Amino acid sequence: MMKSKDKQISLSDPDARSMATSGKDTGIVGYNVQIAVDTQHHLIVAHEVTTVGSDRHQLANMTGQARAEMAVETLNAVADRGYYNSEEIRACEEAGITVTLPKPLTSGAKAAGRFGKQDFIYVAAEDIYCCPAGKRLTYRFTVEEDGKMLRRYWTTACQTCALKAQCTTGPERRITRWEHEAVLEKVQQRLDQDPNKMTLRRQTAEHPFGTIKAWMGATHFLMRRQHKVATEMALNVLAYNLKRVLAILGCRTLLEAMQT
Ligand code: SF4
Repeated sequence: MMKSKDKQISLSDPDARSMATSGKDTGIVGYNVQIAVDTQHHLIVAHEVTTVGSDRHQLANMTGQARAEMAVETLNAVADRGYYNSEEIRACEEAGITVTLPKPLTSGAKAAGRFGKQDFIYVAAEDIYCCPAGKRLTYRFTVEEDGKMLRRYWTTACQTCALKAQCTTGPERRITRWEHEAVLEKVQQRLDQDPNKMTLRRQTAEHPFGTIKAWMGATHFLMRRQHKVATEMALNVLAYNLKRVLAILGCRTLLEAMQT
């Protein structure tokens, strides 16, 4: 097992993989079903069965598929925080797909009761950050980490700052800014302007999942191997979409539309 590429062997279904329920590949062994659902009619416009346990690298793929299927130039997509990935968000923006999703709460400082990065305000005109004490954190240098160019900012005022205990355990508080951070800031602005978007996401994407799971019952996919599971899922999606269109249009209108 340890010699295999992803250190996993599934004897029941060689393609199934441990799904990341807690980020440690300790979840159920199975598949990750991706769906993109339109907000108006709740039709599944794109779907895919993957063996990757997390959703972090699916945003550009699924939104791209949704846009192609809907034959639209631009698309507003809403996703949950499991899809948050800087490069994926940037790829969407560059492709003309506007995404809205919350950032995962991974700040160690915030968890420890200190100021998080969100407490520092970026002033684009001056390329500085303003800290909770009103000090200016200026740009110092750029480092490359995991292929990303990261800019570092800090101030020399920390040593004498009355808020230092709430801010950092080091000599000074440093703030890191990705060279394309503006793209992520736009995502956050969109979320701040319309927090109901996340309710819309739940109402939209969970509706078909809930319906299909209710049909299937508390059970597993019937097939084994990825291509067969993908076919099984495709049949479920086809049935769901057909029933949905029938409910929206009625049988006569649907038949007429299919004949034209
Ligand atoms: S410790 Fe430094 S960065 Fe933090 S609030 Fe004080 S001056 Fe600002």
